[in-house]
Amino acid sequence: MKSLQELTRPNIWNLSPYSCARNEFKGTNAVAFLDANESPYNPPYNRYPDPLQTELKQLIAQMKGLPAENIFLGNGSDEAIDLVYRCFCEPEKDNVVAIAPTYGMYRVCADINNVEYRSVDLDHQYQLSAEKMLQACDAHTKVIWLCSPNNPTGNNLDTEQIGQLLREFSGIVVIDEAYADFSTYPSFRHAIDQYPQIIVLQTLSKAWASAALRVGMAFASTDIIAIFNKVKYPYNINLPAQKEAIDILNRRFDVDEWVRLVLLERSRLIAAFRELPFCQQVFPTDANFFLTRVTDAQAIYDYLVSRGIIVRNRRNVRLCEECLRITIGTKSENAALLSALRQFNN
Ligand SMILES: *Cc1c(COP(=O)(O)O)cnc(C)c1O
Repeated sequence: MKSLQELTRPNIWNLSPYSCARNEFKGTNAVAFLDANESPYNPPYNRYPDPLQTELKQLIAQMKGLPAENIFLGNGSDEAIDLVYRCFCEPEKDNVVAIAPTYGMYRVCADINNVEYRSVDLDHQYQLSAEKMLQACDAHTKVIWLCSPNNPTGNNLDTEQIGQLLREFSGIVVIDEAYADFSTYPSFRHAIDQYPQIIVLQTLSKAWASAALRVGMAFASTDIIAIFNKVKYPYNINLPAQKEAIDILNRRFDVDEWVRLVLLERSRLIAAFRELPFCQQVFPTDANFFLTRVTDAQAIYDYLVSRGIIVRNRRNVRLCEECLRITIGTKSENAALLSALRQFNN
C-alpha cells in the first residue's frame, strides 16, 4: 500500500478543519452554553447535535466489535462515497476502478467530483476478476470500488479475488456491504488492521429498516476516519436521526426477526418465480432482492406499474439485459406481485 499521505489530496492532507463550539468545549456540566449562538429556548432542538455522534458510535462499536475510532457515520453511505472522492481523488488527474454492473452512486459521485471512472465488467456469473481490475489500474488509480453482496446482481463477490486485490493494489479498496446483514459471508471490517487500505461501508437503510434516518457507516483505519472527520460537514447527522438510530440499534431482536422473515419470503418468492412462464433465470442472491431475467422486461415492468406494483427495470444496464430487480416485501406485497404476474400474458 502507498502511504496515506501519498493517497490523500494535498489540500486535504494539509487542511486545518473548522472547529465548532461543540468540539472545543468537551464538558457537559456548564452553567450556561453561550458559545454557539444558539437559542436558549425550545430544547432539545435549540442545541447543535454531537458532531462526532459519540453515544451512537459507542453502541455501533459494541455491536460491530470495533473501536469507535474506527467508525465514521455519514448522512447515508452516500456521504461516505462522496467523501472518498473528495479526500483521495484529485479532479482531472486521479481515477478510480469499479466493478460493473454495480451501485450507481459510485459513478455519479465520480462525475460530480470530475474524477475519471473506469468500470470493469464482472463475468457472466457476476464474479470479480482481480486480474482484470488490476489491469485497469495505473499510477493514478486511487480507489477500487467493490460491492458485496453486489447491487443490482445480489451475489457476494469472491473472497479470494478480493484478497488478491488487497494484496496487490496499492490504493484504497472500498467494500460496500450495504446488504451484509442478509448475507452469510463474513464482513471485511475485521480485516482493517491487516489491510489498512480497506474502507467498509454499511448502512441502517436496508436490514435495519431505517432508510429515512440517513445513517451510513464506514469502518476503516483510525487515520482514514480522522481524514473523513475533518472533511465532513460538522453536524452531518442531525439530533433526531442520532436518537432514532440509537433506538433501532437497541431493537436488534426485532431487526433479526425482520431479516429472518425477508429471507423466508425471498426463498418462497424465488421458487414461485422459477415457475412463471416468462421467467428465464433467477440469479443467486445474498441480499433482500433478486435479479431475474425475463422474456420481455419492459412489457412486464409496464404491466406491473399498471397494477400499482413498482419493481426496478435494469434492462438498460450492461450484463443485465432483460432483467428486473425485485425487492422482497411483506408476505402480502409479495403475494400481490405473484398474483399479478400469474395473470400476465403477452
Ligand atoms: C442502498 C445502498 C446503499 C445505502 O445507501 P444509504 O445512503 O446508506 O441509504 C449503499 N450502497 C449500496 C450498494 C446500496 O444498494
